[in-house]
Amino acid sequence: IQSKLPGVSTTIFTVMSKLAAEHQAINLSQGFPDYSCDPKLMELVDKAMKDGYNQYAPMPGAMALKEAIAGKVESLYKTKYNPDTEITVTAGGTQAIFTAIAAIINPGDEVIIFEPAYDSYAPTVKLFGGLVKTYELAPPNYEIDWDMVKKLFTANTRMIILNSPQNPTGSILSPADLQALIKLTKGTDILILSDEVYEHLVYDEQKHQSVMLYPELRERSFIIASFGKLLHATGWKLGYCLAPEKLTREFRKVHQFNVFSVNSPMQQAIANYISEPSNYNGITNFFQQKRDYFRSLLADSKFELLPCKGSYFQCASYGHISDEKDTDFSIRLLKEFGVATIPVSAFYQKATDHKIIRFCFAKEDSTLALAAEKLIKV
Ligand code: PMP
Ligand code: GLN
Repeated sequence: IQSKLPGVSTTIFTVMSKLAAEHQAINLSQGFPDYSCDPKLMELVDKAMKDGYNQYAPMPGAMALKEAIAGKVESLYKTKYNPDTEITVTAGGTQAIFTAIAAIINPGDEVIIFEPAYDSYAPTVKLFGGLVKTYELAPPNYEIDWDMVKKLFTANTRMIILNSPQNPTGSILSPADLQALIKLTKGTDILILSDEVYEHLVYDEQKHQSVMLYPELRERSFIIASFGKLLHATGWKLGYCLAPEKLTREFRKVHQFNVFSVNSPMQQAIANYISEPSNYNGITNFFQQKRDYFRSLLADSKFELLPCKGSYFQCASYGHISDEKDTDFSIRLLKEFGVATIPVSAFYQKATDHKIIRFCFAKEDSTLALAAEKLIKV
């Protein structure tokens, strides 16, 4: 058959986690915690099931959860999203991204992405006949020169995909970035897909610059969030999309035929759980400590650590240790030293090798310490 995605094979996350298990390596590759989520939260799921929330949830999400999301958003960003018309509960961030792209992109539409980029964006755009226009971010700071972004604009530019904090680089957008984007998109009908799944993981007293803080951007944006990250429960696959009514209407037209609705008891449990902000507002410090701990463990290693301003990923350059390709190096690291990582070339569409690998530090301190013992020997 003729493949719709000829260049695509199994994702690097699947490949590396499988290899890690086969070789009993410490898995710092795929981004997920190796510790339990809050037992209180699990009890709430149990309770919701016993209370009878075992049949289809409403298509756009359980009202209790949409209201709890609206409350959280308002307390964090001082802006309101209407639970009826502007919030949709999804099966994780990935499905929300897929749905927003499916709802908007027609054959020939151009979508601007910033590489290295989360691996689902480009294939999803291509599935719907869209053309990906790539802006390449340069290590170690991965900053954006917006005058260069402007050069990618054409009459067919339909969407820009943002991701701050960024996976894999750990970079974040600044207020100046968003002001530049306001200027650039003014007077156009370009939409923004803002992947903010790491919104809470912004360190060193910086404030997360959600597009919703900027009315000119908010009105043209789908904002994507993931409870997998917020609740240390990536396997639950729950998230949501915030968007103005006219965009949400289109989003839901697709959502209803994509999954129709998502896990009912977990929606009830999460609604209860996040209604109490103390259940999640320690998350920034929690991960900042992990970042600092992991960086301190590797300070005497041969790896050169890149800046990490946000997310739960730490990138490191190994160019002065080896000139192997990053995929070869990370497989050798896994097999010879017992630590699984992600080669950053996986986040580019065309062959791009800056000799950088990504570590996930959403792990027990003891896991990080054990990994570091091995990494010090490289
Ligand atoms: N966007 C980014 C940048 C991610 O790193 C991830 C996954 N970790 C997702 C989206 C997908 O989130 P989910 O697991 O909720 O589908
Ligand atoms: N987002 C996670 C990461 O970057 C993994 C998601 C996935 O496995 N698709 O590691």
